[in-house]
Amino acid sequence: MVFQQRLNKARACMREQQVDALLLSVGADLPYFCGYEAMALERLTMLVVPFDGAAKLIVPRLEADRVVERPGLFDLQVWDETDDPIAIVGSLVGAANKVAVGDHTWAGFLVDLLKVLPKAQFCRASEITSPLRSIKDAAEVEALGAAAAAADKVAVDLRAGNISLVGRSEAEVSVELANRLLAEGHQRVNFAIVAAGANAASPHHEPGQRIIGANEIVLCDFGGTMEDAHGVGYCSDITRCVHLGEPPAELVEAYEVLHEAQATQVGAAVVGQRCEEVDRVGRQMITDAGYGDYFIHRTGHGIGTEAHEHPYIVEGNSEVLQSGHAFSIEPGIYMPGRWGMRLEDIVVAAEEGPSNLSTTDHRLAILGT
Ligand code: ZN
Ligand code: ZN
Ligand code: ZN
Repeated sequence: MVFQQRLNKARACMREQQVDALLLSVGADLPYFCGYEAMALERLTMLVVPFDGAAKLIVPRLEADRVVERPGLFDLQVWDETDDPIAIVGSLVGAANKVAVGDHTWAGFLVDLLKVLPKAQFCRASEITSPLRSIKDAAEVEALGAAAAAADKVAVDLRAGNISLVGRSEAEVSVELANRLLAEGHQRVNFAIVAAGANAASPHHEPGQRIIGANEIVLCDFGGTMEDAHGVGYCSDITRCVHLGEPPAELVEAYEVLHEAQATQVGAAVVGQRCEEVDRVGRQMITDAGYGDYFIHRTGHGIGTEAHEHPYIVEGNSEVLQSGHAFSIEPGIYMPGRWGMRLEDIVVAAEEGPSNLSTTDHRLAILGT
């Protein structure tokens, strides 16, 4: 029923934007609307949603068994190895003037679709799906909360010193974080960044063979996907930093600034606030403290069935926060060649005020070595 409501809303948006057909393939849109996730393979899977008429899920024969059929929501059309799935989609779409294609659809499929639908105008499906997906209903907020709580357990263990760091490589610790995310109920790990010392100055550092030593900061940013009752996965994402041994005064000072800026941004994420304003309040504090040049990325990203989605908490995004918007608040300070730090929570805008789903202690954890 939840899927039917979502598809109805999508059709209402299609009407407004005069879109005749919505085509969804790999990526997060498809599971959001029908509970099935396409395999990212060379065989086409595509949900064809005409503005009027029944939706059809086009699936290769060998993957048909994985589909949970939902009569009334979509009809299943299985194609065999010698069939041409692009031709099938083309015939279903027919004389459509405007077609919205899932943003993550492989370019190769889109090129072939352009050939069979030469008269159609194409647009991104996200123009229809993002505004719907970015506002989470109560069940989705609950699913995000469950994923955040599972990630919190790993972060609490990290801060407590239950994950050994000194003498191990970043890659080894990354594997342990990933395994712990799975043990806490995630079905999939999306990333587990472990960046020690100067490596922490690179926000998306790839954990490598570098051995973690005493007297350095270790930045850990990890998250995964956890399925809800309908089998649709929702993402977690958290960053905490630990310092091995007593941190130097410079790091303590910088962390204090980061901590206060992040808390201020979480508090500013109220319904009616512009996304860019949430970015601005924390960036101003970090700039006033002299670190403005070292906060080199936006404050945050929306989160849901995808780890990064709308709304983006960034300068220039005047979109106003609405109840149900879920996003990260993750300012950072990065000193090239020396150290880096980031503090990240997942927050949901609600009428009662911002709800912080990440409850792990926000202070810099100081561990003995
Ligand atoms: Zn990131
Ligand atoms: Zn993160
Ligand atoms: Zn994030």
